[in-house]
Order: sequence, then C-alpha cells, then structure tokens
Amino acid sequence: MTTSASTAELTCPICLISSNDNDTTNTNNEDPVKFLQTPCNHHFCQPCIERVLLKPRSNNIITMGPCPMCRLPIILFDLEYISSDNTDSCTRYIGNSDVSTWPIANSQYKQRSLIPMETDELLQRLISRKGVIEGYGITFCFQNSKPSMEFSSNLNIVFDYDFKEGTNNNIDEHLLPLSSIVFDTSYFHQRSNTFHGRVVFANPICDMNNNDDKPFYFYEQLHCTLHFSENGNYIRAGYLRWKLATTSTRDYPLDGCWEVQYTDDLPITISVQQHFFTYKGSNCQITIGDDSFPRFTWPNSYGHGEVKLICNQPIQDIDESIQWTTIHGHHLIKWRRKSNIDDCWKVSTFKAGTIVYQTYNQNSGSSISLGPKHYPNQLWGNSFCQGYCVGMASYHFLKPDCNGNLHAYISYESPRTEMWPSLDNGDNVPSRVPFRNIQWNSETRTFNGDICWEEDYNTTWMGERLWKYEITFDSTFMFVLSGTVTRSTGEPHKFGIDLVYINAAIESTLKEELQNSQGEYMQHLEAIRRWRDAGATPKTLDMLGEVAISIMDDDSSSSVIDFNL
Ligand SMILES: [Zn+2]
Ligand SMILES: [Zn+2]
Repeated sequence: MTTSASTAELTCPICLISSNDNDTTNTNNEDPVKFLQTPCNHHFCQPCIERVLLKPRSNNIITMGPCPMCRLPIILFDLEYISSDNTDSCTRYIGNSDVSTWPIANSQYKQRSLIPMETDELLQRLISRKGVIEGYGITFCFQNSKPSMEFSSNLNIVFDYDFKEGTNNNIDEHLLPLSSIVFDTSYFHQRSNTFHGRVVFANPICDMNNNDDKPFYFYEQLHCTLHFSENGNYIRAGYLRWKLATTSTRDYPLDGCWEVQYTDDLPITISVQQHFFTYKGSNCQITIGDDSFPRFTWPNSYGHGEVKLICNQPIQDIDESIQWTTIHGHHLIKWRRKSNIDDCWKVSTFKAGTIVYQTYNQNSGSSISLGPKHYPNQLWGNSFCQGYCVGMASYHFLKPDCNGNLHAYISYESPRTEMWPSLDNGDNVPSRVPFRNIQWNSETRTFNGDICWEEDYNTTWMGERLWKYEITFDSTFMFVLSGTVTRSTGEPHKFGIDLVYINAAIESTLKEELQNSQGEYMQHLEAIRRWRDAGATPKTLDMLGEVAISIMDDDSSSSVIDFNL
C-alpha cells in the first residue's frame, strides 16, 4: 500500500476507475491498471483507450481514432504512460521492442495484388471508393534486430487519407527516391498484433511530383503501422504516415494543413509547405506581395481562367478561417486551418481487399499459401464460401474466445462486393456482419443465428430487416448440407438449392488427401462419391466436383478458391 501524496488521483472518464482504486482493489495480485495520456492531454485507463483505438472501423485503420473526450484524432502509439510513482517521467506507450520475440520475427512480407484488372468499370469504382488500388512495391523485413522496409524502385506513393478528417478527397500521388529504410525505433503491440516503426530522416527527403525540376514536399519523419493477421501470415491493413518538414513560420506563415472550400464544392484538404501546394493535381505557389499580403493564382477556376487571390487578413490559428478575395470578385474561397506545419502529416493506407502483404518464403521463392483452415471434427474455425470466393457473403465460424463465447460472421470483404448495392441508408455494406443469437447443436450439426440489419445498423438492406439462418453441415464440415435463410420479405432461401456453400479450405484438405493416397489415379472420384453419399445436392456436388477435378490437374500452386484476405 503506497501513500504517495505526490501522485494526483486520476479517473478514467470512460469506466470511472480511479488510480487510487489500484491500491484498494489490488488484493489478488493483478497488475494495477495503468493510465495513459493523449497528446491532447486527456487521461484514460489503458484497457478503455485501447478498446476505443483498436475498434475496427469502416475505413479499417486501426490504432487511429478520435479522442473520446475532445474528438481530436489520436494514435495509440502517440500515447504516454503516466507513471504512478513519478509523475513527471512519462514513458511512451510501448509493446515489446525485442524483435526476436515477435511472432513475425524472421519474416519478409511482400505485396500480393488482389484486384483482377480486367474490367475498367470495376477499377474505376474501386479507385473512387477506396482511393488506392495500386501497390507500392514495398517489402517489409523483420529479419534482423532492426526492422526495415525495401522498395523495388522509387516509391510511388498515393496519399489517400487525411489524418485529421478521414478520407482525403484531394488524392495526390508522389514519387519518393527511396530504396530502403531501417526503422530507428520499432515495437510490437502484442494484443492487437500491430507493428509500429518510426524513422527520422537526417536530411528531409523530397518527392518528385509531376516531373517538375523543383522538388515539391519535404518529409522529415515516417511512421509505419502494420496490423497483422492472427497467424502472422499476412498484413491485414497498414498505413504510412509522413511528416512534412518544418519550415520557418516567419518566412512561410501559411504553411500547414488546410481545409479548402471553393464556393459550394465539397471541402478538400491541402498541405502547404514553403508556400507550395497541390490543388486537384495543379501546383500553386503563394507569394507575399509588396503590400505584405499573401497571394496566389487559383488554377483554371471553373472556366474563369486563372484568378488571382489575395489574403488581407492576419494568419489564422487552428480551426479559424481565412477568406481569400479576388480582384474579379464573386469567387468565394475559404481556407480553414487544420494544423501548423510542425503537425502536418500525409497518410497513405493499404488494406486487405486492395493490396495485401504476405509472408514470403525465400527458399521456394513463392509465397506460402494463406487462407482458411479445415477442421473436420468441429464447426468452429471453419469458413464456408459461395462462388469460389471468400468475402462474398462467406460464413466464418470463429473458435470460441477465452470466455467460451461463440462468434460467427458473414464477410463482405471481397472487392467483388463493391458491385453490390449499398445499405438502404446509403452506407457501404459492412465488411463483417456478426451473427446474433447463436445456437449450435453438435448432435445434428445445426447452426442457428440471426443477421440483424435493423438492430445492428439502424437500417435495412434491400428492404431486409432481419435474416434468420438455420444451417446444417455434413459430418466432416466440408459443405452445407441443408438449411434455410428466413428473410423479412419473400420466400426463404434454401441451402443446397438457392445457396451453395462449401468449405473455403477444401483445396488444401484435398491436396493433402491426394498426397497421402500417393497419387492414386481416381482419388477425386472417390471424394465426389463420398460427398454424394453424405447427401450433397446436385448443385453442391457440381461445385465440390469442380474443385476436386482442378486439384487432379494441378501442376501449379494457383487456387480455385479466391481467399482474398
Ligand atoms: Zn477506463
Ligand atoms: Zn482529447
């Protein structure tokens, strides 16, 4: 029991636990709850702020999120511990910094493209929805005590995400002359399987935008965050966060990040450095006139040609606006300051569904196979897909969590679902939709669960409020034998007839079986016969058969089922 009077009592505003509770409740040798401080000077207990920042969001950027108190964007790795015995020594919130003990140690992660490039329309939709589809050609290496990144050539990077406001409408593309970097500091947050590394460039690196003879932006720091899959085989999502180099506020008072709005257009974000900026692909420069007012020429302003803008207001603080006036009048352009140059970041993101980074096996020169696993003796752990594609309304039955709770979800994570209609309120279809009211009968191998569009999302999908599933599996959990989906409108769907689902891991299981049978010629027919005897409907047999036959002809590692994550 400590009686340190120097420590101010801290209370978590979320769960109301107090730092003094640690002394009184800590009777069963539990570690005391630690408190963390955000850059915006708010305090939370570690479990609460982790829960907030690690919550999956629709944009899939975990570890970034709004401060629960002031809504300012914060990043898990920017938090600092508030030490209970010495209030003025703040230690950064870190995970494990010993690379050799990381679950991803001695691995290399190389990019694998997931998007079929054949249809232009799909491509266009993906670009407009997700911002980024092209790869960066980065390899992430965790093979030495110093994690590093390698780049195949000049790094072609698309800044698609605005840290302060979310998705950026002013997507801009830059070429950075980098071949590799080694992180100065790096650590691994075990609970979320997230890597975080930072590097400070001794000389700010510059990009080569638009083949101008003049370098454009300069960057002085790079933060990289990578969210790994549970088994460490691939990177689910990640972001690279580049800090613009600091300039003199006296020489460049308008440097920083601004939200820019031209008349009634949607506002976009721009970054101004050394009074240069890019607006919708055009380069602009602010100059200070003899009257000491900043001015610039607005490029091709909607058919009005070039418009000269002058700012005759004092330079504004964060969240304040300046109104540019023009010598022609009637052009209304407003800038709202979002940050100063010393806190100006550009972010590029990637995630499963667009680009995925996968562990690379140096010996075979090929990537190891990813994807679902088959559990022949239990439902939990298995995934079932239709149309040979995971993430197109595939069913995922998770292994029970540490409290024995059962979880299952429908995945809409395939890029192919981009073509599907949005929810009736206009939102994108969520990437994972949980089953509610789960029941499992192991005798009859029957799963019951509900998809609650209305309850969980406050909207309907194609007029549907609630789907009630009853799914019965074959005895080896290779396919869905029978069952129904009761909808809020129309007739129920029948499994095996309207809906055909097979285990998404069927290929690896069959390949293994084939190896064990030492290449016996008719092995695939044997498997098909077995499934027919187990009660597979003709439609289900068609699908199973196609996979089985493709494995017989197999001479490559290409797979019929698209895992997609
Ligand atoms: Zn709390
Ligand atoms: Zn705050």
